[in-house]
Amino acid sequence: MDHCKKIWTNPLNTLLVKFPREIAHDTGGLRREFLSTCLKYIHSELLSNGAPKVQVSLVFEQQFKYAGYIMGICFLQMGPSPSILSEECFKVLCDLPADPTQEFLESPSVKPIATASNEQEFKMAFENDDSFDLLLKIDHQGLPPKFENKNEFLKMVYHKEFWEPRMEAIRQLQQGINIRGLFPIIKENLDEFSKYFTYNKKLDYFYFVEQLKPQFAPEGSNKYMKEDTVYKFFCDYIQNINFSENCTHSLSDVCQFITGSMNIPPMGFQPKIIVSFEHFCNESCNCYPESSTCGYVLKLPVHVNSLEEMTAKMDEAIINGPFMFRG
Ligand SMILES: [Zn+2]
Repeated sequence: MDHCKKIWTNPLNTLLVKFPREIAHDTGGLRREFLSTCLKYIHSELLSNGAPKVQVSLVFEQQFKYAGYIMGICFLQMGPSPSILSEECFKVLCDLPADPTQEFLESPSVKPIATASNEQEFKMAFENDDSFDLLLKIDHQGLPPKFENKNEFLKMVYHKEFWEPRMEAIRQLQQGINIRGLFPIIKENLDEFSKYFTYNKKLDYFYFVEQLKPQFAPEGSNKYMKEDTVYKFFCDYIQNINFSENCTHSLSDVCQFITGSMNIPPMGFQPKIIVSFEHFCNESCNCYPESSTCGYVLKLPVHVNSLEEMTAKMDEAIINGPFMFRG
């Protein structure tokens, strides 16, 4: 993070990535992997529930500016989608007021106000000291607003309580994202960009399968039969991990194993992910699925005999992946 400024003097120069102690040429896979790693760092260290952590040191170190910069780079360099913000955070980032979250409405000082269903209950709610303090905080001088303005009032309280302490971080994100004038474009196309910046959805199994392009031998051939079977095991495997809770890896891990990107980029993978098949193993072969993150290639050995074996092998390959099979 500290080196952001030094490395990318021009964000449109292709970012070349080299990992220490590894021999690999970057033709895109490492770049996506690097950006994915940065996004994961931002997600876990700088954000909490998709909103900036309130931590002065992070603001002082300009960490959010670098975070914004990385998110912008993801767009300019066809990297992974930076879908790490909450919907509310994305709105505030675009200078719009956000609706209070359920969690906020249920906090002790806000709940009596939020749940009031008539003028009288609404007035009563402010008899609670903490709720009364909210009035003072947003300059109501101790006078409760009208019941009919309840939602407007809650929005203001939400902004004051939750977002104001995060505004410096938000401003840094805005600055960072605004590489080559990207920020105004985002603001003008909110709905379009929202899907790439917010994390509300997990990776879509069907959309992921659409990204795959299996290279089958001619239909009806012996080879085809084997390939078709092993491809089905693979699809079952990713379907399982996408819909069941207790799996070693997520579909996002599989995506990163094959492409270096933890999610599907804004325009889908171009070209699509080639799935090829290894037929020429010797009888006792125990090899694993391999990937080449630079060329978007997944190679499946046809001697995988069951969904269980596919699961075990993929799980193992993903753990070793970045070191064994990087292309
Ligand atoms: Zn093999």
